[in-house]
Amino acid sequence: MHRHIRIKKLLIANRGEIARRIIRACKGLGIETVLAVSDPDSSSLAATEAGAVVALGGAAARESYLNHTKIIEAALSTGCDAIHPGYGFLSEDGDFAEAVRNAGLTFVGPSPESIRTLGVKTTARSTVTKAGVPVTPGSFVAGTDEELCQAVQSIGLPVIIKAAAGGGGRGMRIVRDIAEMGESLARARAEGLKNFGSDAVYVEKYIEEPRHVEVQLFGDTHGKVVHFGTRDCSSQRRHQKLLEEAPAPFLDSETREKIHQAAVAAAKSVGYYNAGTAEFLVKGKEFYFLEINTRIQVEHPITEAITGVDLVELQLRVAMGEPIPFEQKDIQFTGHAIELRINAEDPFENFRPATGTITAWERPEPSDAREDFGYRVGDSIPPWYDSLISKVIIHGASRADALYKTFQYLKHYRVEGVPTTIPFHAWILSNSRFQEDGIDIGYVEREFSGEGAEAALALLVTDPEFRAGNGAEPYTETATPADLAQGATSLSIVHEPGGTFLAIPHDSAGAPLTRSTWRRSTSRAAICGSRQ
Ligand code: ADP
Repeated sequence: MHRHIRIKKLLIANRGEIARRIIRACKGLGIETVLAVSDPDSSSLAATEAGAVVALGGAAARESYLNHTKIIEAALSTGCDAIHPGYGFLSEDGDFAEAVRNAGLTFVGPSPESIRTLGVKTTARSTVTKAGVPVTPGSFVAGTDEELCQAVQSIGLPVIIKAAAGGGGRGMRIVRDIAEMGESLARARAEGLKNFGSDAVYVEKYIEEPRHVEVQLFGDTHGKVVHFGTRDCSSQRRHQKLLEEAPAPFLDSETREKIHQAAVAAAKSVGYYNAGTAEFLVKGKEFYFLEINTRIQVEHPITEAITGVDLVELQLRVAMGEPIPFEQKDIQFTGHAIELRINAEDPFENFRPATGTITAWERPEPSDAREDFGYRVGDSIPPWYDSLISKVIIHGASRADALYKTFQYLKHYRVEGVPTTIPFHAWILSNSRFQEDGIDIGYVEREFSGEGAEAALALLVTDPEFRAGNGAEPYTETATPADLAQGATSLSIVHEPGGTFLAIPHDSAGAPLTRSTWRRSTSRAAICGSRQ
């Protein structure tokens, strides 16, 4: 159906770890790469690995990675025949995909038509419903305030008002009391207008405490669609995923298979090709389609880990018109994989994004973990883009094995100079609810606390396996008078992830005192006293 083309030279319209990931896939296929860079990224790690670099100028995304004209001009002026958008930035912009096509270039992704249909929530809902895919009870078209209030009568409270053109978790309002409808509608409309240029909104049933389960999809331009199984991404804060796992745990095989089939049906309903992800809310055996993300996802490596398929290579092959070279039954799932997003954010400060320079970065060696990162020691984290600095991907024989290996990996892992999400990961990995039952999408928001993370970090650093590890041994100081008063004779000082220090007082037998006596500070001197 589609002509075969050969991509000889690819423009990468992205940055950081995903730019490096795309370069790697291109090397395997013998495709030359050109990396489009903003000013602050001109000597990034990805820039050193690309075949060539083309300057976009500007720093803010709007002046660089989001600028259609500059990106297309960069591809044409360097003799590229295709553009890979990565994730974020222009990856789900139907107008951009069309402009790429109109410029005579290949867009590594789905058609502009699929992106547009799936980008409007009401259109996506009605399209997939016709294909038999379950969506939350609710309306399928945007309506007037009156119509939507009427719809609520039949849906039942609570409901969620959504901007039809919304995305990125914006333009949504939960309504638990019908008296709030008027004001919530006004706010959702205003947010929709401001962010998406449209005040069209609709309502759907709000599902209490669901899990986020998604399916990795792949279509080719010959009409075949396959899935690569599920991922659970319920560890979120403000709709931002922090830890993902594949396959989604705690699903019976019948429900899992139904979710797979629904995802494939949703993709087929729009003639989807290239990589995509169908997102569902899952509550017990019930599941509801939310949306299809029309791009490669940040968390694709955990699916690669359990299937052994290189999804970015497959994106490039499909973009060249090749058929997917296997059938659904050939896709086998082995073990369980976890991804930790190491973000430059401070979990002790409400996950505030942080900038700064990475002064040290230690990871266990040798290790069978995969790590996809976009920075080096000495690099600064620029304030203009997302806060992801690295993804740790660990594969185990089972979920328990993967969790154990991930926790062990984290014990020997240090990033210094900028705060990171490592304390969050220590917390979630040691959380019994997460380990035993799984969590819903609101759990982290409800339960995470700085104290909980401190306790989890302490578990990481005081565990004997940690102390035996890899030069990360805590060093010892004599106790201060305050420690002596509490019965301590010595102090272990542990250099924590994020560049802070933890002082753990020990009694004469070497046992740590209770956690309430431990002290944490950004300065070693402050917790060791003023001795020289
Ligand atoms: P966006 O396109 O802005 O990401 P989504 O429709 O995918 O919007 O919803 C974003 C998030 O909001 C979901 O991941 C989920 O956490 C929450 N959410 C959305 N719809 C519902 C619903 N009907 N019930 C409960 N939570 C919901």
